[in-house]
Amino acid sequence: MKILLNNSSLFESLRPFNDLGFVPTMGGIHKGHLSLINKSNKICKKTIVSIFINPKQFNNKKDLMTYPRNIQKDLNILKKNKKVDFVYLPKFKDIYKDKKKSKIRLLKKDKILCAKFRKGHFEGVLDVMNKLTRIVKPQKIFMGEKDFQQLYLVKKLLEQKYKTRVISCKTIRDKNKVALSSRNFLLKKSNLVIAGIIYKKLVNIKKNIKNQKHISNFLKIKKKELKNKFKIKIDYLELRNKKDLKTSKKINNSRLFIAYYLNNVRLIDNL
Ligand code: AMP
Repeated sequence: MKILLNNSSLFESLRPFNDLGFVPTMGGIHKGHLSLINKSNKICKKTIVSIFINPKQFNNKKDLMTYPRNIQKDLNILKKNKKVDFVYLPKFKDIYKDKKKSKIRLLKKDKILCAKFRKGHFEGVLDVMNKLTRIVKPQKIFMGEKDFQQLYLVKKLLEQKYKTRVISCKTIRDKNKVALSSRNFLLKKSNLVIAGIIYKKLVNIKKNIKNQKHISNFLKIKKKELKNKFKIKIDYLELRNKKDLKTSKKINNSRLFIAYYLNNVRLIDNL
């Protein structure tokens, strides 16, 4: 596993390869990341993982400050996994060397779910993914369904701009069915137990949706119930079509999306 600390070492090392799988991360490596890496390793000849906490996608300073960082631990996990050929650890200037402001904007119809509640977040994500793709030039990029809206927006942008294909990967969960996330490192055990109970409630809500005449009313009531029962702030609880993320009135081809706060940590999930 070769560690690439800047762009010139990256360009030098990657030049010979034309079947490259790329797994972009912000570190805090967990089994969700490893599943993406394993898939890349199966499909592509070489796999590169990046670890870069992109300040431009944080709409909240405190969230950026407290985001889990432990490069040495991450590198140990990746090394042990034995499926990573390159780890790219860019500095801010490697990514943002041209100081021009990004022109990437969201369409009005995409300003939903997290885009509505985290202003500027996806503009930052799309900008960094655009830059990373230009630098790494991978044939395939592996991304998780856990961040479904991110996967949807990044795929839409990159596949029309580059030859790169964005491959979606299933959400990996812990034994309580909580979606793994680097932010879970910021939670207490008791929070994770509650997150597990909330997941089960969501499964039930989704099951019951098909008997409802007015889904949005039903979800409004369920949102209120969850909020009161667990004393949590919920940004959204919505059923949306998984192809275009439009609000959905039927369960087929749809996913239930939630974003909520536990112990001031924002968690998202979809099922
Ligand atoms: P992050 O480091 O949180 O930016 O995530 C890097 C990549 O890993 C993104 O494509 C995420 O969607 C993906 N990912 C994060 N958590 C999970 C999970 N529990 N299961 C599958 N993929 C995940």
